[in-house]
Parts: sequence; C-alpha cells; structure tokens
Amino acid sequence: MNRPKALLPTTLPQPHRALGLAVLLVVLLLLGLFSYRLSEHFGIERMRDAASHQLDILASAIDSEVTRHASIPSAVELNPDILTLLRAPAEEQDVHQAAANHFLQKLNDHLGGPAIFVLDTSGRVVASSDWIFSDNLLGADLSYMPFFRNAVQGTPARHYAVDSVRQEPGYYFALPVRDEKQDWRVIGVAVVKSGLHELERRWLAQEAPALIVDSNDVVLLASPPEWRYATLQPKEHAALDQIGRQQFAGHPLGELSLDIDLSGAGDGVLVRLPKHLRGDLQGVKGERQYLALSRNLPGTAWRIVVFSDLRPVGVQAATHAALSVAAFGCLLLGVLYARQRRRLARGREEARALLERANQELERKVEERTADLSDAVAGLQREVGERQRAEQILRAAQDELVQAAKLAVLGQMATGITHELSQPLGAIRALAANAVEFMRRGDMATTEKNMAIVEQLIEQMGNIIGQLKTFARKSPAVNSAVDVAQAVDGALFLFDARLRREGVTVDRNLASGAWIAWCDRNRLQQVLVNLIGNALDAMQGEAVRRLSFSVDRASSGQLALAVADSGFGFTEEALTRLFEPFFTTKQPGEGLGLGLTISRDILRDFGGDLLAGPAPGGGARFVVLLPPFTGEDQEKPS
Ligand code: ADP
Repeated sequence: MNRPKALLPTTLPQPHRALGLAVLLVVLLLLGLFSYRLSEHFGIERMRDAASHQLDILASAIDSEVTRHASIPSAVELNPDILTLLRAPAEEQDVHQAAANHFLQKLNDHLGGPAIFVLDTSGRVVASSDWIFSDNLLGADLSYMPFFRNAVQGTPARHYAVDSVRQEPGYYFALPVRDEKQDWRVIGVAVVKSGLHELERRWLAQEAPALIVDSNDVVLLASPPEWRYATLQPKEHAALDQIGRQQFAGHPLGELSLDIDLSGAGDGVLVRLPKHLRGDLQGVKGERQYLALSRNLPGTAWRIVVFSDLRPVGVQAATHAALSVAAFGCLLLGVLYARQRRRLARGREEARALLERANQELERKVEERTADLSDAVAGLQREVGERQRAEQILRAAQDELVQAAKLAVLGQMATGITHELSQPLGAIRALAANAVEFMRRGDMATTEKNMAIVEQLIEQMGNIIGQLKTFARKSPAVNSAVDVAQAVDGALFLFDARLRREGVTVDRNLASGAWIAWCDRNRLQQVLVNLIGNALDAMQGEAVRRLSFSVDRASSGQLALAVADSGFGFTEEALTRLFEPFFTTKQPGEGLGLGLTISRDILRDFGGDLLAGPAPGGGARFVVLLPPFTGEDQEKPS
C-alpha cells in the first residue's frame, strides 16, 4: 500500500516560525505607523481647513470692526470749524476750539462710540470729541505716536496703539489735514480711534487659542488674555522699550515670550508651546503640539494666528492605526483560516482517497480470502461428505458386526434355547395326545384342563421367542430413557434356563425405575447378554456360582452398573488384552473374541464406557458406565 502523504510539514520549523513572527510584527508595526501617519496627515489637513475657515471669520470680523470708522477722518478734514481752528495761530486757538469740539462730539455721537480728535502739527490735541469728560485728550501730546509722524508728513496712517491718557488700546486712523489756502500744506492731523472692546469680547470667546500680532511680533490681542503683549520670540529690551513708549503708552512688552516661530505659518506650521505657557482658556496647555495657521490682515500690518490642538488628531490617528492593524490582523487571520480550511479539506480529501484505497485493498483481500475460504469450505465439504460416507460405511459395518455378534450369541445360546423350547413342545405334544384321548372318552373336563396347560406353555414359548426376536432384530441405535433394571431383567430372561440349569445364584440389587439411563435399550441389552454369557462361561467349573448386579452413581455423574461373577477371573495377560478384537481364551468355535470390543464401542456410542477389573471376592467385575437421563433436553422414558 502507498504511504500516506500526511507527512507533509504542517508547521514551520522553530527558527522559521520565529522569523515569520518577527516579520509579521514588523509588518504590523509599519502598517500601524503608515496608518497613523496617513490619518494624522488627513487630520491635520482637515484641521487646517477648519482653522482657515476660522481665520476667514476672524479676519472679516476684525476688518469690519476696524475699518468701519476709516472714513471719518476725511469728514473731519472737510469741516470749516476744524480748518479754522488749525489755521489760527496758537494763541487764538482757544477761541475756535469750542466749535471744533462740538463738531467732533456731534460726529462722534452720530457714529456711535469712537473717539475723534485733531492734532496740530506739533502733535498736541487741539480738539476732541471727548472734551466734556475730565480725562479728555485736549492738550495731550501724541507726537510720539507713529501714526502722527506719518500723517504730519502727509501720509495717512493707521495702527494699533495705547493712548497715554486713558491707557486704552485702540486702532487709530490718522489723515493729514491740508489747507488749500496754504498750498495744501499739512496744518494738522485728524484722528479717529476705534475701541476694540467688541473685538476683544468676541476674541475671548474663541475656543482655540488665537492671536493678533503686529509687525513687531507683539501680541495685541490674545485668547488666552494673559498672552497679550507677549512676543513671539524673545526680543531685545531696548527695542521693546521703544515700541512700548511709542505705541503702548510705556506698557512693558515681552515679559512673556511664546517662543514660537511662525515663519511659514501661512500654510500652517506645527508648533510646540513652551511648558510654562498656560491659559485661562480651557484646554490651552504648554508642552503640546498645535497647528498654527496665520493670515495677514489686508490693509494692516497685523497677522492673525490660530492654534489648533493636535491631540484629537493624534487620538484619531492612533485609533485608525489600531483599527487598521486590527483589520489587517483579522484579514490575516481570515487568510490563515481559509488556508487552514483548505489544508484540512485537502487532508480530508487525501484521507478519503487513502481510505478508499485501503477499502479497495481490503475488498480485494476479502475477495481473495473469500475465494480461498470457498475453496477451503468446498474442500471441507468434500471431506465432510467423504467422512460422512466413511462413517456411514463404518456404522453399517458396525451394525453388521453388532448383528453378527448378536447372531453369534444366539448361536451360542442355540442349544439352551432349543432345550428351552423342546421341553414345552414335548409337553404340548403329550398333553395334546392326551387331550384327544380324553375327548374320545368324553372326558371334556380333563381335556379342557390339558388345553389350558397347553395354552400356558405356548404363551411361555411365545415369550422366549419374542425375546429372541427382539434381541435378534437388526435395528439402528435410537436413544431413549431406559430403566437399567428392566434391561438387566430382559438379558437375564434370555439366560433363564441356563441359570437354573447351572445353579447360578443371581444377586439383583436393583430397584425397578430407580436408575434411568439415556441409551438404546436393545444395544444395552446386547452388552448385558454378552457380559452375562462370559460370566456364565467363566463360572462353569466353579463350585460357587454367583452373579451379582448393582448400580451406583459415578463421580462423573454417569450411572455405573457393576456386573460381577465368581468365575476364574482374569489372568494378567487377559486383563491387558480384554478389549483387543479377536482376543479370546475360549476354544475355537466357542468364542470369536469380539464381544467385549463391540460392547465397549456400543457404550462409547451412547457416551458411556466399559471398564473391567477383578471382583472383590475373586472372579471378574465389569462396570458399565451409562449417561443418565436428565429429562431436560432428552425424551421422556418410553
Ligand atoms: P469371547 O467370549 O468370544 O472370547 P469376549 O470378547 O466376549 O470374546 O471375551 C474375551 C475374553 O475375555 C474371553 O475369551 C475371556 O478370556 C475373557 N473374559 C470375558 N469375560 C470374562 C469373565 N467374566 N471372567 C473371566 N474372563 C472373561
């Protein structure tokens, strides 16, 4: 038979497995990293879009807030009261100031909120919309402010600054006021200051950190508010002091540095805020990465910057990385599962094919064996047939032999039987003759008496002949329940005359019906006739002639019928050769030497046996062993 292919390696060797595992881990790691990076990239892109949108909103809010008062200085410039005031020499200005103040106040009230004022060419406030307040700007020197310097030189200016009077930040628009009568010379500066309260309020409402930075990188407005007046990078004190004096009413700048580089932040840049930076705004923390996106405000030197916390992107990227690794793992498991299933299916297929081959082989062998067995059975049947035939022949021969033995016995008994029959026959003849005579004489009574005796004698003869007929009948052995005492009586009956003639004492210690054997009655009787005949022969020359019968149960459970005589017993040689065919000590013509051999064969056929030995008081003793009638699976006694 072919060897099974199951020897294909189902597992990798140890080092290969470790290598495979390591490669798998590296692949998973790389995949996780790739997914993380990809997700982070798209997350940042999305965040950038959101920040850009936020910047748009902020920019438009700032623009509308800051520029809505940009045209006011033009209106101021055209007002005759203002022009009169500015044209007047310094000592006369007080006269014209009131009209100018009133105009500015009205204009301011009308426009809702901003402070409007006019400076002379020295930078002194000569008219102001807030003239009615005690802390008004009248007389204040704002010549240090950058917008003044530009405007007085004829250039409109605008910028963020903190005034030194109220310390209030604002966005200033300055326009030179020219006098057409003096060759369009600059005679003063009209200024409007927009308060940034609304902007601040909206600014602080920002969720993400956001800044407005001026051209000096100073933070003008911030959420969180602590970052106001901070610088993006550390700066020299002198420069900061100067800016502070000019623009921030001496307010100290740069005490806090955000320490971030926003060059390139127009497209978004990743920054890490320093550890010490904290904000009131919830979620603003130092030591975290933020996406900073900046935008220049058109018309100003300002930049707006918004910071977006990258943590959600990181979390999302980590989630995506984990998910992709898990998905890949699942895919891998799925592939492995499918492979395993395929392998199992292949294994099953191979096993099935193997089984089929084994089956075919088995069937072939069975067929071979069956053929062999059929031959053997046919041979056996032939042999059995032959044996049966041989047995039949043997049995027939045996039957013939038994019959021959019977006839031999009958032959030996012939003299006795003749004598037995001739006696009554003679008596019958005499009685019949007498009966005729008595009838002639008319003595019917005596005739009747004689005839009655004749009848009795005939019956006696009939009995003898009947027994002989039964004994001589050639019949196949048929087992039945046989009363041993009856069988003994039947055999003794055949020797009745001889026993009496030879004066033999018969001890028949048998109760009728006490011992029932399972055998053929006729054949048992034949055995007994043989044994009794031999015993009588052995006792012929003896003074004491005693024949005794007794039955006992052998240890094997068989019935043991002992037939003992007081004859001459056995010589040593006779004892060893008794059952040899044709062994006889008798004269030629008296014995064939087959009786005991046939008797033992007959008994063994029943399942019994025949044993011989010396009798206790001298003489011979034969034991006939017979199977007992059990009554369970045997027929009832007939
Ligand atoms: P046969 O009677 O024709 O000789 P058996 O087989 O019946 O043949 O007996 C064989 C021999 O066994 C006898 O010749 C005799 O010597 C011996 N034998 C048988 N029965 C007795 C007996 N009761 N006492 C002594 N010898 C016996």
